[in-house]
Amino acid sequence: MRAGGRDPIREAVRLLADRRNAVALTGAGISVESGIPSFRGSQGMWAKYDPMEYATLHAFMQSPRKVWEMLTEMVSVCGEAAPNAAHRALATLEETGVVRAVITQNVDGLHQAAGSRRVIEYHGNMEELVCVSCWKRYPTRERWTPGSVPLCDCGEILKPNVVLFGEPIPWLAQEQAEEEARTCGLLLVIGTSAQVSPACDIPRIAKESGAAVIEINPEPTPLTASVTDIHLRGSASEVLRALTFLMQL
Ligand code: NAD
Ligand code: ZN
Repeated sequence: MRAGGRDPIREAVRLLADRRNAVALTGAGISVESGIPSFRGSQGMWAKYDPMEYATLHAFMQSPRKVWEMLTEMVSVCGEAAPNAAHRALATLEETGVVRAVITQNVDGLHQAAGSRRVIEYHGNMEELVCVSCWKRYPTRERWTPGSVPLCDCGEILKPNVVLFGEPIPWLAQEQAEEEARTCGLLLVIGTSAQVSPACDIPRIAKESGAAVIEINPEPTPLTASVTDIHLRGSASEVLRALTFLMQL
């Protein structure tokens, strides 16, 4: 992990220790090691279900039964997954006062399961279902069984309380995420391809407000050459484990 004679991971540790008001922005990549496939890549269910065909509000309203085929798989995969070392490392960094919040694009609930307390769910979560007609909400486990299309008491089809392409970000999550981005000293951007808007604006907002941006991803992203100060190349668990270890020294 060396670049241009500097040691990026030690530089990252120094910045984290100095600034201490860090925020993390996470994406599907942090949950890959928990067995949940990311959107981009050839593996898993997204090779079978094109997100642009299945994960849109338009598709859901046109043919909810078809979209529920894909959602059924997503609910099962998320339900079986457990937090990995990367989720746990972020919870530890919050406990030790280094990270103050996690903004996640993920809908799997794994940050909370790992012990993170301040989690801003930018794209909602799979825990709840919401009626597309009367907006009544239900816990997913109460209304959903594998293979079924869950219905509201009013008779309409229920949708997971996640943000599909074409839907706005929940107002409170948007406000809180922007506030965190504007006021943090450092943003850890972990496992996101930074191609989904408006989530991809968060690193830019942080940077323009004076924060350092550390990216953790095995691959470069559109942020790497423009916004990122330090790119730690590797899997989320490998890099975060190394960071938390070095922070204790
Ligand atoms: P993405 O699928 O577009 O990109 C994943 C990124 O993670 C890539 O840049 C990839 O290089 C990186 N990555 C892969 N393995 C990694 C690892 N082990 N450690 C660190 N990084 C790794 O993901 P996105 O940017 O989050 O956008 C996808 C959208 O789909 C999100 O908005 C999210 O809501 C949704 N989604 C969520 C889940 C989930 O909840 N777990 C899963 C799939 C998709
Ligand atoms: Zn209803």
